[in-house]
Amino acid sequence: MPHGKPAGMPCVQLRDDFACAIFGRPERPAVCASLRPHLSMCGTTRTDALGALQHLEAMTAPDGVGALRR
Ligand code: SF4
Repeated sequence: MPHGKPAGMPCVQLRDDFACAIFGRPERPAVCASLRPHLSMCGTTRTDALGALQHLEAMTAPDGVGALRR
């Protein structure tokens, strides 16, 4: 996604089984390769992780609440 990934849009490299199609390959973005999952961010279920992501998205939106209003 050379122009960036808009918030709320799945990455084009995300497979149907939620694995990364380019995992371990050099073209995988550095930000992805450097991310270290943590229980506080991912929780123990997909629902936990999506909730945490939604919170982070809202906290980092330009207006501070963007993701929750959309
Ligand atoms: S790890 Fe990065 S490149 Fe792979 S699916 Fe997730 S966001 Fe996309």
